[in-house]
Amino acid sequence: MKIDLNKIKESLIDVVFPRRCPVCDRVLAMGNRAVCPKCRKSLVFIGSKGCRKCGRLLTDSDEEYCEDCKSTAHVFDRALSAFVYNDAFRKSVFRFKNGGRKEYADFYAEALYRIYGAEIRAFDADAIVPVPLHKSKMKERGYNQAELIASKLAKKLYIPMCNNRIIRVNRATAQKTLGASQRRKNLKKAFIIKGNDVKLKRVIIVDDVYTTGSTIDEISVVLKRHGTEKVLALTVASGTPV
Ligand SMILES: [Zn+2]
Ligand SMILES: [Zn+2]
Repeated sequence: MKIDLNKIKESLIDVVFPRRCPVCDRVLAMGNRAVCPKCRKSLVFIGSKGCRKCGRLLTDSDEEYCEDCKSTAHVFDRALSAFVYNDAFRKSVFRFKNGGRKEYADFYAEALYRIYGAEIRAFDADAIVPVPLHKSKMKERGYNQAELIASKLAKKLYIPMCNNRIIRVNRATAQKTLGASQRRKNLKKAFIIKGNDVKLKRVIIVDDVYTTGSTIDEISVVLKRHGTEKVLALTVASGTPV
């Protein structure tokens, strides 16, 4: 019988630090390294059912693009999300961002990788760029949640993570309460690019949640002004277009 030392090590770690469900935060049964059975039912995978541009779940499966993408020209080339940002997922992301549950990044990155691995590889990116936090926010939270997901993806895909080129210079205030056009205005000049040495032709931008796409568009503007040709955005969850 072959003994798998890695398996044994993982099991011992699970005993000392029990794994929690990244959706409801309950302690998982031994050996379960994903989500609890109850939460599995509450997750809505988007996969091939998303808008061909922004990746949000289409309400009409006969359509190729959501209403928003039919009328708005995005600067990024393509966005993909793993899950619908429903009530269950909202709680998960809240704990991930504000409750110190950094380990959820494992599950988030794994889900993106499993669902879109082939598409992401075919994109052939030069770098993975997490959406940056303003330094005051970084100080407050202690970590950048987008960077946690990006670094896990970078390892899986063997693509370098580039987390020091794009800097957030304006602190975005209460973005959630603003309408789409206000958000856009608020984000104007929010990001700058540092250094001009290496050209990043194809870039993957990573964030936790896709709402209107304005943040990703603004970063894409800055990147494309500096020689980037294609931008693929990967977010863990996205709201359904209205
Ligand atoms: Zn659960
Ligand atoms: Zn769309």
